Amino acid sequence: MSRELFSEEVVNGQRYVCVGWIPHINKRDFPTIVIQWASRCADCGASFQTGTTPKQLPGKRRCTEHASPGKRVTNIQQDQAS
Ligand SMILES: [Zn+2]
Repeated sequence: MSRELFSEEVVNGQRYVCVGWIPHINKRDFPTIVIQWASRCADCGASFQTGTTPKQLPGKRRCTEHASPGKRVTNIQQDQAS
């Protein structure tokens, strides 16, 4: 199952756009892909991206800053492998 680039999904009223795929090795050392979705934070409207397996729909509704209100972000993920 694959997604077309820039295809859209609306989950619980929130719009997500597929912006790409990332090769990924899962917990069983099996090569798979992660679907990257772009959306906007339900709190502040900032754009953010989230990843799912090809069979999942995205469920994240907020940017990194608002994902865990009251919780300090101490480890910002940097996914810059190229
Ligand atoms: Zn936000």
